[in-house]
Amino acid sequence: TAPELIRNFCIIAHIDHGKSTLADRMLQLTGVVEARAMRAQYLDRMDIERERGITIKSQAVRMPWQVGDTPYALNMIDTPGHVDFTYEVSRSLAACEGAVLLVDAAQGIEAQTLANLYLAMENELEIIPVLNKIDLPAAQPEKYAEEIGKLVGVDPDDVLRVSGKTGMGVEVLLDRIVETVPAPVGQADKSARAMIFDSVYDIYRGVVTYVRVVDGNLNPRERIAMMSTGATHELLEIGVISPEPIPTKGIGVGEVGYLITGVKDVRQSKVGDTVTTLSKPATEPLGGYDDPKPMVFSGLYPIDGSDYPVLREALDKLKLNDAALNYEPETSVALGFGFRVGFLGLLHLEIVRERLEREFNLDLISTAPNVIYEVDLEDRTTVTVTNPSEFPGGKIREVREPVVRATILAPSEFVGTVMGLCTDRRGTLLGMDYLSEDRVELRYTLPLAEIVFDFFDQLKSRTRGYASLDYETTGDQAADLVKVDILLQGDKVDAFSAIVHKDKAYDYGVQMTAKLKELIPRQQFEVPIQAAVGARVIARETIRAIRKDVLAKCYGGDISRKRKLLEKQKEGKKRMKTIGSVEVPKDAFIAALSSD
Ligand code: GDP
Ligand code: MG
Repeated sequence: TAPELIRNFCIIAHIDHGKSTLADRMLQLTGVVEARAMRAQYLDRMDIERERGITIKSQAVRMPWQVGDTPYALNMIDTPGHVDFTYEVSRSLAACEGAVLLVDAAQGIEAQTLANLYLAMENELEIIPVLNKIDLPAAQPEKYAEEIGKLVGVDPDDVLRVSGKTGMGVEVLLDRIVETVPAPVGQADKSARAMIFDSVYDIYRGVVTYVRVVDGNLNPRERIAMMSTGATHELLEIGVISPEPIPTKGIGVGEVGYLITGVKDVRQSKVGDTVTTLSKPATEPLGGYDDPKPMVFSGLYPIDGSDYPVLREALDKLKLNDAALNYEPETSVALGFGFRVGFLGLLHLEIVRERLEREFNLDLISTAPNVIYEVDLEDRTTVTVTNPSEFPGGKIREVREPVVRATILAPSEFVGTVMGLCTDRRGTLLGMDYLSEDRVELRYTLPLAEIVFDFFDQLKSRTRGYASLDYETTGDQAADLVKVDILLQGDKVDAFSAIVHKDKAYDYGVQMTAKLKELIPRQQFEVPIQAAVGARVIARETIRAIRKDVLAKCYGGDISRKRKLLEKQKEGKKRMKTIGSVEVPKDAFIAALSSD
């Protein structure tokens, strides 16, 4: 297709504002998916996405659309909508010239609406503001058209009104896309340059890579090179998705399509990388390339120790489809053999954990998530800490932790509540704007560690569900942080070490020791549980001793009965972990580590 007849666009929206439903309606109206083959959220292919109603991996679909007598090709690029995947969102946006900014007409602008809009503006996309769900009785299109108009800088009358559910207004929207989204520009006779905006592992075909061609063209059986690594591959197949993959004789300037090279690991085909041809290689890659950086770490351990090899294999498999997944083996005194796993954020953690449990039938225990710390020591060396138990003792000059820039939207009545929460979580107010009389946008710098620890839940419950949150990491900052260790009879229980702000160390210590006192059964001797910062004990509980003389129960000389009892006791011990001389049921650790 000639570039003048191509329009590349994406839909950006806050979660649940109806992006997938609108995409479905477009597929149907353009005839790409027949009505009877239609299932809801056609593009959300992963089970977890479907169940949770979120879009994790982006996809691209080509749709024919005629305006007057002219046949256009619309490429709709579905972007992941969650903060954890900002880098992927921004790559998908870079593959488009226009963005449909979708806002629920009963909800108005939310935090992710803003975050995605800013990303789209950074990528210089043409923005088409649209109110969705106008079929809802609770819809307030006039009010929210005003809000959006103000935000995007258009007349409220120019904000389109649609319903993804009934299809109302969707044809008008498709026409508007053709009219206002600029056609792609690129140089057909130059060396090929195509940007990878998604790459997905498929068990039958290996990695399927989604690209947007900027210059030149890519043809089947050609050798291509990945510009970030120089690795070369043969193009086994190239084509477009509409809505299933259709092989073509090549794709040119402005086109969006997929490639198959036979590689088996998405790391060999990285989102953000530039593809060129070996016969006429380009010299300058498109944009930059960033490796995804894990921000949140957690230890993952099989509840049944013999599942360790299964867990290793499962992680190796997931990695094929997830370039951001990072892990290395780790051993814990309390939990045995497992892995320290790095994630992009909390949702990423939850998704991986759920997939491991569901697809590989594993029962897992995960330690409380933590962020990465940089610790400067007296001898001018710096250590990076991804596991609290590895936090250095000795003299420390400075500790730095990652911080985020958070945007919170809430009804005005909750301003005080939200500010209170942010202050409590060591936030610094950056600014505040009223979107309308009854809606406020608050901007804060907050430590990522504070967000990771149930911030979103707190925000939701304190605002009766009305606040929304978005954040992006912005670097790190020095903070007064200490490591709190938990000791059982003087021995450290590594899984419970935590890095916390100095002012919160005492609370953590008191809570943890109290929790463990509840959970650990009495032993033959007294067991002190202590919380300590360095050598200083900050909290203490004691489990009193019992004398559990099982044999006392069987008077007389019934040897076989005695033996049976002893054996039974031995079996119970197998599920015990020994910390020093204290026997702790594994269940106690699991209960203590679970967040509530
Ligand atoms: P996404 O998270 O932005 O992809 O949102 P979905 O498309 O999954 O929609 C979220 C919810 O809103 C679902 O329950 C949809 O059925 C519903 N929904 C989406 N569009 C409309 C609409 O136009 N009208 C009504 N009444 N409901 C809608
Ligand atoms: Mg969706």
